[in-house]
Amino acid sequence: AAACPAYALRVVRALESAGWEAWVVGGWVRDALRGVRGHDVDVTTSAPWRETERVLASAGIEVHETGTRHGTVTAVVDGRPVETTTYRVEGSYSDHRHPDEVRFVTDVREDLARRDFTINAMAWHPDRGLLDPFGGADDLLGRTIRAVGDPARRFDEDALRVLRAVRFACRMGFSIEPATQRALVASAGGLAGIAQERIGQELDGIVRSGRAGWALMAEPEVMCAAIPELQDSWGFDQNSPFHVYDVLEHTAHVCCACEAFTAGLASPQLRWAALLHDVAKPATYSEDVTGRGHFFGHPKAGARMSAQILRRLAIPGEVAVPATLLVRYHDHVVLPTRRSMLRTLQKFTHACPGREVPLTYDLLDLKRADAVSKSPKVAGYAHELDEMAVALRRALASHAAFKVSQLEVDGTDVMRQRGIPAGPGVGMVLESLVTCVVDGDVPNDREAELRWLEL
Ligand code: ATP
Ligand code: MG
Repeated sequence: AAACPAYALRVVRALESAGWEAWVVGGWVRDALRGVRGHDVDVTTSAPWRETERVLASAGIEVHETGTRHGTVTAVVDGRPVETTTYRVEGSYSDHRHPDEVRFVTDVREDLARRDFTINAMAWHPDRGLLDPFGGADDLLGRTIRAVGDPARRFDEDALRVLRAVRFACRMGFSIEPATQRALVASAGGLAGIAQERIGQELDGIVRSGRAGWALMAEPEVMCAAIPELQDSWGFDQNSPFHVYDVLEHTAHVCCACEAFTAGLASPQLRWAALLHDVAKPATYSEDVTGRGHFFGHPKAGARMSAQILRRLAIPGEVAVPATLLVRYHDHVVLPTRRSMLRTLQKFTHACPGREVPLTYDLLDLKRADAVSKSPKVAGYAHELDEMAVALRRALASHAAFKVSQLEVDGTDVMRQRGIPAGPGVGMVLESLVTCVVDGDVPNDREAELRWLEL
C-alpha cells in the first residue's frame, strides 16, 4: 500500500503508544491498493471512544465527539479529519430488537466482518501490514464486488448495501460477483424502507460515476427500486418507427451517449437529466388512429416528476434545478441559427442566472444523445446538432446580447424615456427589448435602443 498520510498515522501511533490497537481501515486501504489517493482516512481501534478521546487529547490532537453512539470520534490533525471508531459489530443482527444499537468488540477481525464488501473490509498498519481476512485484495485484482459473509443476510440487514454495491461497481468499473448479484436483486425491494436522502446520496454517486446507463442495463431492478418512477419505463415499448429500444433501454443509451459526447466530463445536471429525461413517457402515452405511439406533453410532465424525484432524494438545488430544466426542454425545437441559440440562452438565463452558457451546451449534448439513441433513422439529426454547437459558439464569440445586463441601456433609461416609475414594469420593458435584440430587430447599440424605448 502507498504510504498512509502522516497526519493519520499520528492517530494510530498515539493510540498504540497508550497500549491500544489501531488500524487504518475501509475506503482508504481499498483505494491505496488500487493506486488511488483516498479522500479520507478512517481508523479503527480497540480503545473505547472515551479512551480514544482522552489519549488523543493528551497527545495534543483536537478531538470532536461526532458519533459516540456508534463509537466514533473525529480527530483533526493538521486540519484534516480522521474518523476514529471503536471495533464494533452492529446490534441489529446480533439481537434483532435494537436495530440502531452497536456492540463493541475486542477483535479487529470481528469489526472487519461487519463491513459490506470484501474490498472495504481490509485493515492496514504501518508495521503489521495488510489484514485481509476476506480476500479483498484478490477481489480488487479481479475487479469484483463481493459481499462479506452470506450475501442474502447482509443485504437483508441493510438494504442500502444494495445501492452501495452498484455504486462501487459503477465508480470503479467492477463487476458484481454472481451470488452477491443474485442476493442484491432479491433484496432490492428493501430500499423502500431506506431514508430517501441516503438513497439520494448513493444514487448521486452512481450518476456522477458516469455509469448510470450501465447500471440501468445491468441492474434495472436496483435502479427501479431506487427510483420507483422508472419502473414503468422498463419494457415500455415506444411503438414508434424512430425508436428501437424500450424506454428504459433508450434511457440507458442516452446516459452512455452523454458521457461519450462529453468525454466523460458531463456535468452532474446533464447526467441526472439523461437519467430522468423520459420518466413521464409511460404516463403520457397515447396512440393515434394508425396505432402509432405519442407522448404528448411528456417533457413538461417529466420535468415535474424530475423535480419531485430530485427533491425527495435531497439532491441540492444547484443540480436539481438545471437538471429539471434540461428535462423540460430536451424535446424543444432548436435550430442551428444564431437566433435560436440566443433564445435558448435567454430562456435559461431566467431559470438559472449565470449558468445559461454551460446549460445550453448541456442541452445540445442531451438532444444529440437522445437523437442517436433512438434509431439509426434519426442519426442525420446528429449532424444538425453539430451545426447548432457551431452556431452557439459563434453567437457567444460575437458577444451577442441575450440578457438585460448586456444591453446598452438600463432601467434609468427606461424610466426616463418611457416616463414610468421604478418597479417591475421597467424589467418587463428591458426583457422585451432583449427579445427584440435577440431576434435581430434592434441592434445592440445605445442609439438604436434609446430610439426603440421612445416608440
Ligand atoms: P467512499 O470513498 O465512497 O467514502 P468508503 O469505503 O470510505 O468509500 P464510506 O461510506 O465512507 O465508504 O464507509 C467507510 C467504510 O465503512 C466502508 O469502507 C465499509 O467498510 C464500512 N461501511 C460503510 N457503510 C456500510 C454499510 N452500510 N454496511 C457495512 N459496512 C459499511
Ligand atoms: Mg469514506
